[in-house]
Amino acid sequence: MNRWRIPARLEEEVKERDKTCVYCGVRMIERMPPRGFRKAMATWEHIINDASIVSRENIARCCVACNSSKGTKKLPDWIQSS
Ligand SMILES: [Zn+2]
Repeated sequence: MNRWRIPARLEEEVKERDKTCVYCGVRMIERMPPRGFRKAMATWEHIINDASIVSRENIARCCVACNSSKGTKKLPDWIQSS
């Protein structure tokens, strides 16, 4: 399990599936680069903001830019605001 309590197998599966941001489609990178391009860092995202829902449907990967933009907003609200 990683720090988001995602089991390793699910983590691998989602990493394999989501190589681009689920929201904006940018190609993501795994490691923090020395500088620049941090916005393309991959982060873990709970589609529904409930960390107890750990399933391949609720877990996705999105880039830092989308993650920080979305914050704790509910997905439909965030989509409308952007
Ligand atoms: Zn994005």
